[in-house]
Amino acid sequence: MADFDLVILGGGSGGYAAALRGAQLGLSVALIEKDKVGGTCLHRGCIPTKALLHAGEVADSSRHASEFGVNAQFISMDMNAVNAYKDGVVSKLHKGLQGLIKSRNVTYVEGTGRLVSPNTVQVNGENYTGKNIILATGSYPRTLPGLEIDGRQIVTSEEAMKFDYVPKSVIVLGGGVIGCEFASVWNSFGSEVTIVEGLPRLVALEDESSSKQLERAFRKRGINFVTGVKFASATKSDAGVTITLENGTTHTADVLLVAVGRGPVTSGIGYEEQGIAMDRGYITVDEKCRTSVPGIWAVGDIIPTLQLAHVGFAEGIMVAEEIAGLNPRAINYDGIPKVTYSEPEVASVGLSTAVAKERGYDVVELSYDLAGNGKANILKTAGSIKLVAQKDGPILGIHMVGSRVGELLAEAQLIFNWEADASDVAQHIHAHPTLSEAMGEAHMALAGKPLHAHG
Ligand SMILES: Cc1cc2nc3c(=O)[nH]c(=O)nc-3n(C[C@H](O)[C@H](O)[C@H](O)COP(=O)(O)OP(=O)(O)OC[C@H]3O[C@@H](n4cnc5c(N)ncnc54)[C@H](O)[C@@H]3O)c2cc1C
Repeated sequence: MADFDLVILGGGSGGYAAALRGAQLGLSVALIEKDKVGGTCLHRGCIPTKALLHAGEVADSSRHASEFGVNAQFISMDMNAVNAYKDGVVSKLHKGLQGLIKSRNVTYVEGTGRLVSPNTVQVNGENYTGKNIILATGSYPRTLPGLEIDGRQIVTSEEAMKFDYVPKSVIVLGGGVIGCEFASVWNSFGSEVTIVEGLPRLVALEDESSSKQLERAFRKRGINFVTGVKFASATKSDAGVTITLENGTTHTADVLLVAVGRGPVTSGIGYEEQGIAMDRGYITVDEKCRTSVPGIWAVGDIIPTLQLAHVGFAEGIMVAEEIAGLNPRAINYDGIPKVTYSEPEVASVGLSTAVAKERGYDVVELSYDLAGNGKANILKTAGSIKLVAQKDGPILGIHMVGSRVGELLAEAQLIFNWEADASDVAQHIHAHPTLSEAMGEAHMALAGKPLHAHG
């Protein structure tokens, strides 16, 4: 039996952030992980997929090199080399994280944990008791009834990111973030890609204008997609996988990637037995991530907030600080930055036009076309920065499409979270020629003093 201030079950983004911050604040911390510290994001999510996307960007650059006067040629992908590059990035970050955990004196416990009382997690027959317990067991890829994942022809993101070959053709079921990122990767690698999305548009959580621009860009890249039609069934043969949609149409490809969302890992590990309140498998929490059982907290993908690594980090840090008595502010989930790292990228913070209107704001909008931005022309990217603002009031949302626009979110989130007006931002001088200038130009235009904007 070992006693701690804090026992954390799950060493992914949410769990390890809580462990590091808790230890920094002088708490004695045990972190229990059955696989590898870093969890989904580091080993099966954010990092490996972004490495694949970058390899895709390099492939596309070689294809388009002559447009920039460079003599180069795309020959083929060497997937063993791509995987070695990707795994190298993951492994370096994994080692760094292991070092951090050690240096902060966190007690790291390897093994599968089970909550056996409101203050005890059992691992390998040993009990770890904590004055507080944080549950951070993450999520798994969901599938649909009738769709059995075989890891070869019908796969989830977990298998897809380890492929040692480029499939000739792929159907991506699900046009959300993960689906669109894989569609982008495979198109860059040379596959024929078709996305099937049941909702009326791709990246449906984003502002409608962003979806339209992404769809236009994907069409231009030769990525096929069908929206607003639901999946009905799938059959496998030596020729590949054929799916039938509810409207009777069929699509066949070598591989079917199922990217229909992720479910919380909350069953079979003692949560129900301890009476923790849940809703459809997600643990319900208050604004400080307290569960219904005193002393037990939950963070990351197992609670019904945005399933993003930086949300897990923020929740883990907030809970550690709350336990240490710092009384941190509750998270404003509207202020969470979101990026789909496809080519082009889609990035946003704050409210879409539709949500702002639903909440009763008197909304004004402004869209700044990247065609007017010098750096965007140099990069040959198209897209825009759209501002949603309260009439005579602060910026309510910023929505961007274009290569590398994810990097502009740093400024966008400050604008949103500090409740700046367009005129506050318009007076800041942006370096020329950068993409960030477009952020300045958009706010100048909304403040009534456009510079490089027509009309
Ligand atoms: C393909 C893909 C791409 C993504 N890209 C991005 C991105 O670009 N940006 C972004 O912000 N987010 C991205 N995400 C989402 C991000 O990975 C998750 O939101 C984040 O990992 C959630 O953190 P978590 O701590 O809640 O859970 P996880 O990271 O899933 O960690 C949970 C940990 O708990 C462990 N565990 C579970 N049960 C037990 C048990 N009983 N005992 C011991 N250990 C246990 C697991 O082994 C795991 O390590 C992506 C996800 C995927 C799948």
